[in-house]
Amino acid sequence: LLRGALAPFQEAAASRRGVDSRLSEITADDLRRGLDRGEVYAAFQPKIDLSTGKVTGCEALARWDSATFGPVGPDVFIPLAEQGGLIKTMTLRMLRDSMTFAAAFLPTEPKFVVAVNLSATLLSDTSLPEEVERLLAEIGVPARSLMIEVTETTAMADVGRAMDVLLRLRLKGIGISMDDFGTGYSSLSALARMPFSELKIDRSFVKDCLTDADMWKIVSSSVAIAHQYNMKVVAEGIEDAATWHALDALGCDIGQGFEFSRALRQDAFVEWYHGWMARPPATRAAVVPLQ
Ligand code: C2E
Ligand code: MG
Ligand code: MG
Ligand code: MG
Repeated sequence: LLRGALAPFQEAAASRRGVDSRLSEITADDLRRGLDRGEVYAAFQPKIDLSTGKVTGCEALARWDSATFGPVGPDVFIPLAEQGGLIKTMTLRMLRDSMTFAAAFLPTEPKFVVAVNLSATLLSDTSLPEEVERLLAEIGVPARSLMIEVTETTAMADVGRAMDVLLRLRLKGIGISMDDFGTGYSSLSALARMPFSELKIDRSFVKDCLTDADMWKIVSSSVAIAHQYNMKVVAEGIEDAATWHALDALGCDIGQGFEFSRALRQDAFVEWYHGWMARPPATRAAVVPLQ
């Protein structure tokens, strides 16, 4: 009887293993074909002003719906794109989709900012800032509507090299966000010299910050550091209202996470946005919880 009851779970586990082993067989050539077929696209996850509940913008997250392998996560295909020399093509496509999306949103939300992730490889591409500027001009979007996210590890691996590209982007008016803050080892003096306009606290610290005192200390110190350096601070991975309200009370500016929405395709995002804005402000705006 027990064996019978367990069978469906064992099958599910076996099929998961099957999918996992297929994922490890995916090559850069598969990704190249996927890119050619238009299987890779940008999904957008909203960023929320924690005190007003308003939408400040979104983060573009790459998605690959492969005809052969099914949905493949960015943790799998971004490294492939980097190894296979496809990362620039992919990133320029993400930038184009993101800025086209921003252009459509700006009439309703003039301060809307779309964030695009930039991988390490592209931080040494000195032609990138001019290419991005040309793209913005072509689509007709102001530089302030674009934010570039670089992970702490990426930006700090070679500060001098990263500085050149990041500073040139920043001088054009593009925002620079330090992503996954706290997971790498950055020196605070380097952080002070880099042209960051925003700091994103990694999900691993936000996740349990209400139940784990050490996590709460990391989150609250990060908020203080960001504000000392005049950066906006974003908490990623907010999954419940209690965390939202506590972070708002702490002074964290912006939040992102499943409490608000997952990353959505363009049309679904617009639909989510209208539904979100139609909610009574009291259920959108965070309220400091009574102690
Ligand atoms: P990231 O930039 O830190 O993006 C946040 C990740 O956390 C996303 O995973 C997002 O779906 C997930 N997330 C957001 N809120 C929640 C939440 O409340 N709970 C949980 N459990 N997860 C949440 P995703 O889309 O799988 O992306 C993973 C990483 O892949 C990203 O981390 C980013 O570093 C990289 N990535 C994604 N798109 C691109 C891209 O176009 N270019 C580059 N270079 N990297 C990308
Ligand atoms: Mg990011
Ligand atoms: Mg992040
Ligand atoms: Mg992260």
